[in-house]
Amino acid sequence: QVRIGVLALQGAFREHCLALYAVGAKPVEIRGSDDMENLHGLCLPGGESTVMAKLLVQNAMLDRLVKLIQGNMPVFATCAGLILLSNEIIGFEEQARLRCLDIAVNRNAFGRQKESFTEELDIVCPCFSEKDTEKHCVFPAVFIRAPQIAQAGGNVKILAQRKGRILAVQEKSIVATAFHPELTENLLFHTWLFEKAKEYKASL
Ligand code: GLN
Repeated sequence: QVRIGVLALQGAFREHCLALYAVGAKPVEIRGSDDMENLHGLCLPGGESTVMAKLLVQNAMLDRLVKLIQGNMPVFATCAGLILLSNEIIGFEEQARLRCLDIAVNRNAFGRQKESFTEELDIVCPCFSEKDTEKHCVFPAVFIRAPQIAQAGGNVKILAQRKGRILAVQEKSIVATAFHPELTENLLFHTWLFEKAKEYKASL
């Protein structure tokens, strides 16, 4: 069994669990430090990053998550999950976060909930190793109060952009999207996480 921990404090975790089942993984809902044993991958869903950050601190989960990620456990994060991973949240410097991904983000860069939209985006597919040749595809990107990535460090690969705004990135075994693949039928990102988690499990 390839066990993928899905942060389940708040937000769209059920949809990620369903997508992970669909690709053959075993999703494990994480609500406290005790749920973080024996995992091979992590999924950080969308929702409200300010609430998730508070709960991560209250439940003393931040350090444990950071350790797992620094130990190269593969991670797929969407929207609020991307914000949680970032080094810098512009204008919300006090907000607790994991600081595992070398990006600076702007929250709510596309307006309010009612301004949500879906758009077919040409994206670079997440890659499995540095040597992979770059593949592109068209992806149905769902935006719900989505952040944008204002800056990305030199080791961060840009996977998606729209009108000059960076919307998806990869840094080694971390992939993060401002949009919501779990709300579509397209399992590209969940398949990537499953494959990387399999590799991680084999390396243990
Ligand atoms: N705007 C939200 C935040 O800042 C993220 C929205 C989402 O995850 N759909 O946390």
